[in-house]
Amino acid sequence: MVALEIVASEARAIYAVGRNYAAHAAELGNDIPTQPLWFMKSAASLCFGDRVSFPKQLGPIHFELEWMLRVGADLECGNSVADTACFSEMGLAIDFTARKLQTQLKEERHPWDRAKSFSNACWLGCMIPSTDLAAGFRFMLHQNGELRQKGASELMLYTPMELVNDLLKFISLRKGDLILTGTPEGVAEVCSGDVLRVSSPTLGLIRELQIT
Ligand code: ZN
Repeated sequence: MVALEIVASEARAIYAVGRNYAAHAAELGNDIPTQPLWFMKSAASLCFGDRVSFPKQLGPIHFELEWMLRVGADLECGNSVADTACFSEMGLAIDFTARKLQTQLKEERHPWDRAKSFSNACWLGCMIPSTDLAAGFRFMLHQNGELRQKGASELMLYTPMELVNDLLKFISLRKGDLILTGTPEGVAEVCSGDVLRVSSPTLGLIRELQIT
């Protein structure tokens, strides 16, 4: 199994998709997109430790637990892939978001980077060798023991294969690049001292993160 240090150091790019779960789009008052809504997180925002803190003055930070895919080969723009072997690993990650700031930037029609791509904004929870995606899987996030988010692969508007093929319409992917597949509903603010537990019973994954 690949170590998270390696995953973090080999990621050249992190592609993240917004509104890939209808219920989460609704909770933020957003329309369902007619094609995947891509944004990027900087590789410099990756972290994988058991404790994280965030830069001050970003306002409220929300967790977004997401299914993450790691690209397993160099894939050229303009091609398409049909085999899930294009992913080498998959697992759980949190897309931390400065929500109030993001809303403000969206209203001003400015890019979101300041709200999505700060230090420690992309936490790697667990990664396992990629398995049969068609089998489906569940994942969840508990905040201080309370269930907040519950995701299921079949609730994604765009499947992992649809997402990778959509990216390949406009950019080449490199081995080690990471894809965040969107957040299920239930996002909420984190506070210093919070313990977030991410898990996937179907895949036997569990990990805790403390916010400091
Ligand atoms: Zn997200």
